[in-house]
Amino acid sequence: MNTKVTCLDVRRALGAEPQRRDAWILEHCKTCAQCAVFLQDMTALGTRLERALNIEVPKDLEARIVFRAEFRPVERRRTYSWLAAAAAVVLAIGIGFGVWQYQQNSPAMLGKALVARVMNPTESAALDPDRPVIRDASYVTNVLSQAGIGMRGSMDDISYASADSFRGAMVAHLVVRGRDGPVTVFLLPHVHVRAPTHFNEQGFDGVLLPHGSGSIAIIANNPTPMMPIAHEFMKMVEWSI
Ligand SMILES: [Zn+2]
Repeated sequence: MNTKVTCLDVRRALGAEPQRRDAWILEHCKTCAQCAVFLQDMTALGTRLERALNIEVPKDLEARIVFRAEFRPVERRRTYSWLAAAAAVVLAIGIGFGVWQYQQNSPAMLGKALVARVMNPTESAALDPDRPVIRDASYVTNVLSQAGIGMRGSMDDISYASADSFRGAMVAHLVVRGRDGPVTVFLLPHVHVRAPTHFNEQGFDGVLLPHGSGSIAIIANNPTPMMPIAHEFMKMVEWSI
């Protein structure tokens, strides 16, 4: 069909219809690495948009749209067609951003980010098994209040406490002495998860639990049971912001 397919032809075709798989497109992508990557990106984008757009719509919506379009004066219809196109673009961008944000906030991504924080070399001293327990309860209370967290009662075996910034909001980073070694606890007032989620990253096991408007993460690389620690924190932690 085409004597000479250019990169521009391929990008144009895929830009208009990400799911297009004409023979000439595939043929070009075999020999052009850049277009092959573009094809891959468009496939991923297409699937994500498809998933995002897979929402229930009211049954009569189509009828209502057709009815309105039919009965709108010609003049007005023309004026609004470019507006509708612009709105569709804005909607697509919005959905794309929503999907991106959803992925960033998915429990799996959160687990990954929290384990990265635990493994951060500047905070590795926090996991030193010989770290003494913090005797001064007011120190812990003070750290928690910096992250907008209140605590009913006190915990005996906290060996590390700091208020850190995580994704633009303050969180509490604690380490408690577990049965088989140190256990990291993140109190995340701004992170909401729908259901308890387990994750496993680089030798660390973790669980992310919803707690009111925020969540609590427990992470360890030793077999200390996590749920008793989680429940203890859930009884005591109150989000004050
Ligand atoms: Zn190309």
